[in-house]
Amino acid sequence: MQNFSKSIMSLVIHVCHLNRKFTRLPHLAGSQQNLDLAKQIRDEWMEFGLDSVELVPYDVLLSYPNKTNPNYISIVDHLGTEIFNTSLAEPVPEGYEDVTDIVPPYSAFSAKGQPEDELVYVNYGRTEDFFKLERELGINCSGKIVIARYGKIFRGNKVKNAMLAGAKGIVLFSDPADYCADGVEPYPDGWNLPGGGAQRGNVLNLNGAGDPLTPGYPAKEYTYRSSLEDAVGLPKIPVHPIGYHDAVHLLKHYKNTFFFFFFFNQMRMNIHTNNQVTRIYNVIGWIRGAVEPDRYVILGGHRDAWVFGGIDPVSGAAVVHESVRAAGKLMKKGWRPRRTLIFASWDAEEFGLLGSTEWAECLCAVKSVLISSASIQVSYSDTVCVCVCVCAGMYTLRVDCTPSLHTLVYDITKKVSSPEEGEEGMTLYQSWHKRDNSTERDAPWISKLGSGSDFEAYFIRLGIASGRARYTKNRKTERYSSYPVYHSVYETYEIVERFYDPSFRRLEAVARVRGGLIFSLADSPVLPLDCVEYAMSLTKYANSIYQLALKHPAAMQQHSVSFDSLFFAVENFTVVARDFHQRLDQLDTSNALAVRMVNDQLMYLERAFTDPLGLPGRPFYRHIIFAPSSHNKYAGESFPGIYDALFDIENAVDWQKAWDEVKRQISIAAFTVNAAAETLKPVV
Ligand code: GLU
Ligand code: CA
Ligand code: ZN
Ligand code: ZN
Repeated sequence: MQNFSKSIMSLVIHVCHLNRKFTRLPHLAGSQQNLDLAKQIRDEWMEFGLDSVELVPYDVLLSYPNKTNPNYISIVDHLGTEIFNTSLAEPVPEGYEDVTDIVPPYSAFSAKGQPEDELVYVNYGRTEDFFKLERELGINCSGKIVIARYGKIFRGNKVKNAMLAGAKGIVLFSDPADYCADGVEPYPDGWNLPGGGAQRGNVLNLNGAGDPLTPGYPAKEYTYRSSLEDAVGLPKIPVHPIGYHDAVHLLKHYKNTFFFFFFFNQMRMNIHTNNQVTRIYNVIGWIRGAVEPDRYVILGGHRDAWVFGGIDPVSGAAVVHESVRAAGKLMKKGWRPRRTLIFASWDAEEFGLLGSTEWAECLCAVKSVLISSASIQVSYSDTVCVCVCVCAGMYTLRVDCTPSLHTLVYDITKKVSSPEEGEEGMTLYQSWHKRDNSTERDAPWISKLGSGSDFEAYFIRLGIASGRARYTKNRKTERYSSYPVYHSVYETYEIVERFYDPSFRRLEAVARVRGGLIFSLADSPVLPLDCVEYAMSLTKYANSIYQLALKHPAAMQQHSVSFDSLFFAVENFTVVARDFHQRLDQLDTSNALAVRMVNDQLMYLERAFTDPLGLPGRPFYRHIIFAPSSHNKYAGESFPGIYDALFDIENAVDWQKAWDEVKRQISIAAFTVNAAAETLKPVV
């Protein structure tokens, strides 16, 4: 850790250069440029001194606009003539005019089609927005084209909700209310989204499946592929994103249809996007562990970008790159980690976490080597986007991780200095604590893991302790709307250099946190995981799901629903976890076998929370404590099985059946927590 910190000193200059180098050209998944970049990264990682680096290809379903038949939305008059068309591309920022291959804004995996109808505004397109429209306002979206503003939730959930409401098309737009901060100019004068900018992004509902055509198995050349009709998660309706300049026109006409219904214009979507099986490449680098080569720690981040990817993914990719450089430097001085370190540059994250998920499926396929011999990753440390935001002076570190990593994260941030100006001599922990105190205790806030990035398959499907760290805006305002230029052509190197992190000190701070995490996990004789923290989180989640159920006291009584089994299990886990750590304090660390035994218990704890059958209807979401919310893939839900069984239960068709499912889910949760406790007991 100490050594690593020293060798990451030169990072700032490198990160700055790297960001410039990686963001000159678009790096769309499946493109020649992204393959070239993969090879360049492989070569540099080899030069840095890794033991081996390989390109790992998969053939997965991607989706691109038709080059000769562009996507757009029109307002048509009563004769069917298109009287207004949305723009076909974003105005290209200065200095990038000669760049070819900028993919225009589109919704990846949209269905093709040219639906035509009136427009219905559905706010953010959340479950609660559709409930309000249908149940309170009596507005029926069936057969209509709906228009939703971006933000709050993952766009794939918006599309799913629109489909469930019977819409035959959905337009997504960036509302200045969500994508422009007060007092900030649009790019290039500031960091706000210009009116002609739009957010690209996939609109899948994969539920952790990875490549839509090969769920469960790696998408190799010989792998069986299902037909497009049977593909996982593809939307059945056309989807298209627009900026606020275009949105104003469509919404103006929306008003007209509302007030002068005899005079209305229709909307027509023209969508010709194609799905296409395409080769993608992960770059995977290895440092063989000196003592326990069959134990693994992974640091990864994605390489593919929608366009230049100045923030997403390059700020994260640069940090991975620098960690490899730092590790290589140490190796040249004779260092070798205790455990094996794996570095990953994932491909096709933007198309549904495909590269990382296919590689995880490969791990399953070779589980006789990796998993059964008790030797899968100790931890997966994800580095996706470093989202730095300078809005209103409220900006700080954001960490999402499994509870057993809390203590390690706090310890590491106490050894990193604050990157903020005027905070010289302050630690990152202090700076973070000051800005974002937890509501439950006197410590900085750490979020639970949701999804929407590459740790998903490792944490939610495989049960590998995971975490992510980034610099971000104030969590209390706009949790999931990301940053204004997100997935637009304006995510350039310059926006980071000019506005987000001019000194690159925030990026450096995040790099130190991530570096500290993986080096500590790879080098500590006893794994720095904290089971008591897990117990505390379980207690908190059990209480909150119980509170949710208590909103139906009569039904609880009538169906004799009890949470006792869950509370007993959590209590049991708490006692066992405390005992475990007490024994750990007395551990004879010179006894290699004894150390190996407790490390196995620590490592397998996360695995113990998975259920091979998965959650109802979501077989690849197997973690019983955490899952991406069914209403927002970006957010994490705790005790998701119980949560989903309780959701909107007052409107269930068959109450008996619905409450029986709640009881079944409580028992699954209780069993899983007890089973996990069992793994921490002394071996008799
Ligand atoms: N991070 C990408 C996005 O938000 C992909 C997320 C996903 O497919 O889960 O669009
Ligand atoms: Ca697959
Ligand atoms: Zn992205
Ligand atoms: Zn990303």
